[in-house]
Amino acid sequence: MTQERCAACGRILSRDETAITKKLVNRGATHFYCVTCLAARFQVTEADINEKIAWFRAQGCTLFTNEEGVG
Ligand SMILES: [Zn+2]
Repeated sequence: MTQERCAACGRILSRDETAITKKLVNRGATHFYCVTCLAARFQVTEADINEKIAWFRAQGCTLFTNEEGVG
């Protein structure tokens, strides 16, 4: 099990956070960021990032899921 950490603050990331980094930064991203650091990076609010996560999940994007043990 790989546990990604935020490249900026070192916080352990949720699956959604690694997924939204891929969406916002680069699909091939190797450095991931938490919601807080993504918001700072893109100069938006954390709520904006959470909204995007919810949006991508609503689209059925397979990167975003609440299920454990997928993939
Ligand atoms: Zn961070």
